[in-house]
Amino acid sequence: GTIYLSRQNRKLYVLSNELHAESRFRRLLMDTLPDLVWIKDPDGLYLGSNERFGQFFGAPEHDIVGKSDFDFVDAPLAEFFRHYDRLSIEKGSSVTVEESITFASDGHQELLETVKTPVFGESGELIGVLGIGRDITERRRVEEQIRYLSQAVEQSPVLVVITDTEPKIQYVNRAFEVTSGYSEEEALGQNPNFLSAGETPAATYEELWSALRDGKSWEGELRNRKKNGELYWERAHIAPIVDASGETTHYLGIKVDVTEQKQQSEKILYQARFDQLTELPNRLASLERLAQMIAHDRRRGGLTAVLFVDLDDFKKVNDTLGHGTGDKLLIKAAGRLRDSLRTEDTVGRLGGDEFIVLLGGLELASDAIAVATAILKRIEEPFLIDEHELLLTASIGIAIHPDDGNSVGDLLRKADAAMYQAKNKGRADYSLFTSQLNVELQRRVTLEQQMIGALKRGEVAVFYQPQVDLRNGRTVSVEALLRWDSPKLGSISPVDFIPIAEQNGMIDALGLFVLEEALQWVSRWRREIDPDFRVAVNLSPRQFRSRTLLEDIDGAIQRAGVPPQALELEITEGVLMLEHARVGETLRSLVEHGISLSLDDFGTGFSSLSYLRNYPFDSLKIDRSFTSDITDDPADRELVVAIITMAQSLGLSIIAEGVETSEQETVLKQFDCDLGQGYLYSRPVPPEHIGPDISS
Ligand code: C2E
Ligand code: MG
Ligand code: MG
Repeated sequence: GTIYLSRQNRKLYVLSNELHAESRFRRLLMDTLPDLVWIKDPDGLYLGSNERFGQFFGAPEHDIVGKSDFDFVDAPLAEFFRHYDRLSIEKGSSVTVEESITFASDGHQELLETVKTPVFGESGELIGVLGIGRDITERRRVEEQIRYLSQAVEQSPVLVVITDTEPKIQYVNRAFEVTSGYSEEEALGQNPNFLSAGETPAATYEELWSALRDGKSWEGELRNRKKNGELYWERAHIAPIVDASGETTHYLGIKVDVTEQKQQSEKILYQARFDQLTELPNRLASLERLAQMIAHDRRRGGLTAVLFVDLDDFKKVNDTLGHGTGDKLLIKAAGRLRDSLRTEDTVGRLGGDEFIVLLGGLELASDAIAVATAILKRIEEPFLIDEHELLLTASIGIAIHPDDGNSVGDLLRKADAAMYQAKNKGRADYSLFTSQLNVELQRRVTLEQQMIGALKRGEVAVFYQPQVDLRNGRTVSVEALLRWDSPKLGSISPVDFIPIAEQNGMIDALGLFVLEEALQWVSRWRREIDPDFRVAVNLSPRQFRSRTLLEDIDGAIQRAGVPPQALELEITEGVLMLEHARVGETLRSLVEHGISLSLDDFGTGFSSLSYLRNYPFDSLKIDRSFTSDITDDPADRELVVAIITMAQSLGLSIIAEGVETSEQETVLKQFDCDLGQGYLYSRPVPPEHIGPDISS
């Protein structure tokens, strides 16, 4: 039924109690409506309204009936309402209008969407206009929010993709279009795997889908392909979108193009493995490659050649033409090395002007020689750099796996040794790591091993060589010299084993052994030969590092029961060059103890006179290279004369080493040299052979 209302019974609803049940039911219905319902007569006076209307305008219905909009809102708005009321009357049908209402009380705004419908009586006469208004303020707010959000998503630099559960793409944003190159139309409806470049491991996708199926989100990196074929990396966060019942309805993918970051980190990785200047693999990468090749040989057999390539005299280029030119030359040389090789071969830069070439899968070791020869030829072609024509040569050392070594370090060392051999041969050449070189390296290794325990096994002895007073020919002292007879290696010269003992620290034990022995013997010789007999013991630079040196010497002197004057210590300039404050101090306290010092091998090192002045030496030993020359080289003779004169003026006594002939002895006597030592008088001999008449 039509709602029947008239101007006369406008109090209709107030009197609702008296209305029949059907009307009350309608009334109830209207009051439960969330919408505003009202009716105005053709003049714009309210005939009635529901509860929601009253709440909206803050007025109970009995205050509303009989009033017009001009009573509730300001005039322009009331005019506006009125206009649409009239419009619906004119049209004879519904009009829909959005009404924005500003409340005079507090200025807040509400938005109504209103449908206005003319209401006619049974005989067709106009009764009024029925209004049904819906408060759309909240809906508009949400719509606005959605609009902002979707704009944000749309304009976000982050790629956003929404799929349904199939999954078919339902939405992509602008960033997606820009990055992937696919337009929205092309993407919609597709399975997102249409982007896959086939380079993401299958396991990654399995992990992704299993997470999504469990209702969890997934984060990871995907390698995708753009429409133009280019590959890109994206960091993706993919999450299920669930509805109110917890059912997954969509998947939301948020992705960032991380290709640039990836490239950046790849660049850093690259820099860690490649030489910046030549762009060749660096030392680290080259040696890793060698390790792989060795492993490959072990599995498959075959030979790998390691070529150690060193540019000859490269330092001169840097020094004379500057580092800029040097760098350009290195770049070009590196390029030529590359060019002389097969693609599967490796060339790397070890540093400076040193390169390494790795040749794998060789059948014959000599195959490496052809490559080495080709490299040498390529390097010898003139280089044109900044209008300079530069000529360069290289020296190459070759070691072969597994013939010459089994490890990266071993092969590198051997190729390096072979390269030095090539340099010694006169450069611009290659050299194979030969059995001879191998023997030498091997010997050094065994020497080092054998030295450990040599003292305990009684392989080390001390020999003594007389020092003769040139004025009367009497032996006044001896020099203690170490001898090592190894059952494995034969007799080894101290020249060979002292440096090794200095490196491995054994020199301290050896030094003490010599001191102890020498002092015990000199004590005997002072009783049996001459109460003033002395012994000279060599001290090596390394021994000066020992904090107990002074105590050790003192102890040995006391155990032998001799005065400190019985001991002379021979030191070389090497000791003085240690630049330890302790060296000077130690030397001075030795002298204070009454021990004498002699400077050994004078003439071979810096031969600085300041050493003689600044340190408390008692004597000077002229090196045997000078002694041997005084009879035939006048210049050397002059030098020796000068040394003797100078030393005498400083109050030092002089001893000549390596006296082998009586001619040499004559010259030395002529210049007032004090002592002589050498094969002319005696070779170093075991202590039992020392006696008063040894040198005669
Ligand atoms: P050095 O102290 O200059 O010793 C002299 C070297 O010349 C000795 O060689 C000796 O055998 C040699 N020699 C002596 N007379 C002649 C000669 O007429 N002609 C020639 N050609 N050579 C002669 P050696 O015994 O092989 O010792 C070599 C070096 O080893 C010594 O040079 C010394 O620096 C070092 N050395 C030897 N024993 C010891 C030691 O106990 N402690 C330390 N720290 N070094 C030692
Ligand atoms: Mg000596
Ligand atoms: Mg000497």
